[in-house]
Amino acid sequence: MAIIVQKYGGTSLQTTERIRQAANRIIGEREKGNQMVVVVSAMGDSTNHLEQLSREVSSCTNGREKDLLLSTGEQVSCALMALALQEKGQAAIAMTGEQAGIEVEYLHGNAKVTAIHTKCMKKELQKGKVVIVAGFQGVAANGELCTLGRGGSDTTAAALAAALKADRCDICTDVDGVYTADPRVILNAAIYSYMDYDSLLTMAEMGAGVIHPRAVAHAKEYQVPLVIRSSFSEHEGTWISKDTSISSVAGVTYQKNLCHVRLFGRRMKKEKILRRMKDSGVIGTKDVHAHLDELLAVVKKDDLDQTISMLDSYKDQLGVQTIQTEIQKAAIHLIFVNEEEKRKQTALMNEKKFMPLEDVHSIDSHPAVWSVSVQEEYGSDMARRVYDVFMTENHHKFPLAY
Ligand code: ASP
Ligand code: MG
Repeated sequence: MAIIVQKYGGTSLQTTERIRQAANRIIGEREKGNQMVVVVSAMGDSTNHLEQLSREVSSCTNGREKDLLLSTGEQVSCALMALALQEKGQAAIAMTGEQAGIEVEYLHGNAKVTAIHTKCMKKELQKGKVVIVAGFQGVAANGELCTLGRGGSDTTAAALAAALKADRCDICTDVDGVYTADPRVILNAAIYSYMDYDSLLTMAEMGAGVIHPRAVAHAKEYQVPLVIRSSFSEHEGTWISKDTSISSVAGVTYQKNLCHVRLFGRRMKKEKILRRMKDSGVIGTKDVHAHLDELLAVVKKDDLDQTISMLDSYKDQLGVQTIQTEIQKAAIHLIFVNEEEKRKQTALMNEKKFMPLEDVHSIDSHPAVWSVSVQEEYGSDMARRVYDVFMTENHHKFPLAY
């Protein structure tokens, strides 16, 4: 019997009606003779709601109780899903991350999965049950519940699929697959019928949003066949595997709600600063004037406070004299399939072509990505322009499903 892991995201479980619909899909797979392990996210927006509740009573952004609180969202979904399946006559059992045997490092709010003990799940599968696992959580060696960071249910699914040596891991979401760009911004963006792990990983790291990057890295490491597909449509989705190499460019991503952090200082230790910024999740940087002692970093608005306090605490040590911030920035990323392809096309990326606007900066973000940051108001136009030049004309070269 094949083992299939399916993950359902928040939108796919937004209402009890949708939970019942997803249950029908799971039964459909079960009826094909597959053993099913299902990972669920919290219903709809409920994790945000729980976060809001915690903010109303406390300024603490991470910690034991916050993890306990946030992990309840997934537990609600998994219990409801098991009940829905049982109601339809399908034997099912709901498990928390701990009950499913998911061990994580002891780090509240952003733990990594360290081990998965599959015995319990396998025992239930043997009995013919569908196993429903609460995503985004696990237990540390000291018995504490820790969450995997926002979007962590994807990682749960990839990790379970690897540990169970699953035949396939489906990420069931609210879009039909991996697009060449965000179709809400770029109307002629198209869906890949297949692509390779590395391209998807870079797309995910640069804000594609369709899957959590950690999940892709995990799937790649263990060679888990991954499918990104819709929970609602019959579209076949995007199949991800090792060497289905695509054209030289994989796609364009667009990120809003960003800020600029500008650092000034006569004797700034630029290298050190840049390294530290990279470690703390900065999107891109630019050495603005090599001799004028200015650095620019692009960060998410949500990460701004954290970045500033990190910089503040090292300010003297790093030689930073002044820090300025600017809001309402956006970034456009052109994702190459690898570094080599990016290097080959440097000539084409003639900055002038894309930089007639004021205040456009090319920034260093990722070895296989060409990135610019712009004022948010020009962001979507810029993204369309980049897409047109690099992607539209080349659509015939991609394995696209229309
Ligand atoms: N519910 C969590 C979140 O919204 C985890 C997940 O959905 O993957 O971030
Ligand atoms: Mg969610």
